[in-house]
Amino acid sequence: MNDIKLALLGSEGAGKSAVLVRFLTKRFIGEYASNANSLYHKRFSIDGRQLNLEVFDPCSQSGESRCILEEPVDWADGFVVVYTISDRTSFLNAKNILAQIKESRRETCKGDVPICLVGNKQDLCHSRQVSEEEGRSLAQENKCHFQEVSAAENYLDISNLFTKLIRHVMEQLKHRGDRRRYSGSKSMAKLINNVFGKRRKSV
Ligand code: GDP
Ligand code: MG
Repeated sequence: MNDIKLALLGSEGAGKSAVLVRFLTKRFIGEYASNANSLYHKRFSIDGRQLNLEVFDPCSQSGESRCILEEPVDWADGFVVVYTISDRTSFLNAKNILAQIKESRRETCKGDVPICLVGNKQDLCHSRQVSEEEGRSLAQENKCHFQEVSAAENYLDISNLFTKLIRHVMEQLKHRGDRRRYSGSKSMAKLINNVFGKRRKSV
């Protein structure tokens, strides 16, 4: 069975937890614990294949982004980078995060790194600060997928983007079958359990 590791990255409040919880449970609950890193596990079936999906949802990447980013970037096979369409700062932060992922993967990853750039809170279009076109072109520049979503209102777009991203990761892993997976997988679990408190979740 394949193990697929994804990490959500983005500004605090961008809606990372909301997007992930929507994907995992189909629900939007409004408020999400934001004071701890979480590692979610899910058995997932795609194209008739069973997968073990692990998704890292960090508590915050504002300000101190660099140090928080390093572990997930080494650990994950694919990334969901989230910003809020009504918050330009979160978009600029997403741009930085994309650059950091690219930089740290430059040597180890020959093909494209599987990433989906997500413009969340599409329902807040009356206070939009980032156009869909800007999001799309940032994604094109970085050769990644792009999707605007509303975790509050819609499940399907979110489900589709995760499916697309997981397919991309599976392609990459197939091509790098002999690649030794990053040995930091254990250290990631340790990081989450020891440093930030034990919050492992199964859904
Ligand atoms: P995180 O810090 O990136 O994990 O952000 P959260 O998932 O905790 O979301 C931050 C706030 O934004 C919460 O109050 C959510 O209810 C709200 N939120 C998340 N997604 C949406 C959305 O699609 N639309 C609206 N209107 N609010 C959202
Ligand atoms: Mg969160």
